[in-house]
Amino acid sequence: MRHLLAIRDLAQAELQALVARGLALREGATPAKAQGAIATVFYEDSTRTRLSFQQAGALLGLHHLSISTEGSSIQKGESVEDTLRTVAALGARVAAVRSPWGLSLQALTDLPIQLVNAGDGWAQHPTQAIADLIAVKREFGEMQGRTLLIVGDILHSRVARSNAEGFRALGARVLLAGPPTLLPPGLAQGLGAEEVQLEEGLRQADVCMVLRLQRERQERGYLPSIAEYRRLWGLTAARAALLHEGAVILHPGPQNRDVEIDDELVAAPQSRIAEQITSGVYGRAAVLEAMLDAH
Ligand code: ASP
Repeated sequence: MRHLLAIRDLAQAELQALVARGLALREGATPAKAQGAIATVFYEDSTRTRLSFQQAGALLGLHHLSISTEGSSIQKGESVEDTLRTVAALGARVAAVRSPWGLSLQALTDLPIQLVNAGDGWAQHPTQAIADLIAVKREFGEMQGRTLLIVGDILHSRVARSNAEGFRALGARVLLAGPPTLLPPGLAQGLGAEEVQLEEGLRQADVCMVLRLQRERQERGYLPSIAEYRRLWGLTAARAALLHEGAVILHPGPQNRDVEIDDELVAAPQSRIAEQITSGVYGRAAVLEAMLDAH
């Protein structure tokens, strides 16, 4: 695997293998060793993704070069290409790139560095899906016969796109619920998912994934108000009571507490939000092993 740009670029068996390897690492398998460095090149803010790439690299013995818009020559107008050439010349073999520009990495795949998409605009966030698949596999074993409900701001969510593709590829049913402005006609179908009423979806779900309301991308007046969003679409404690016993709650973070998810649910017994973060380290380590062909 030279680059990882989107979940759909992986054959089912490759995705299956990455998830299985990530889970094995999560449960104590010894990571392979690799030489050199990983660069995190971030044109958008991040906490979990950047740090988990750093942690994953450390598991394999990679040094970490970190660059972001603030405090780098990106401020002086240096291009993405030149930034990637620079980190490659400094010893990075792989760059985890986060950007607000959907699918932009495709144009950069001929540079002398391997690329992993760390989230690009609304388009894809493949390592988040791998993290979430590991957390769910740990909980339920196989995806086959399981139902994933994704709730909220689907339109702006690269997490929803990657997860819908990943869970579908491994045999789960994917349901989507959200306000019509944030779940426009055709979107569910395009992702091989079914659109449902929120309450109905909650009754059917084994996994309820709540998305962050992406306030920074709400410029076009998609919502009457935050309070209205919470009232109609928030995972409140009352709505969470519709989930069956054994169902789990996920959220890719960061949470807007008491907007899309009630404060008390974030660390409730059915929450696997912390597990998603931990699984993310091991999933990314599995991806780096595969990309670097580490033994
Ligand atoms: N942290 C995730 C991402 O970067 C989810 C979010 O920001 O809403 O896509």
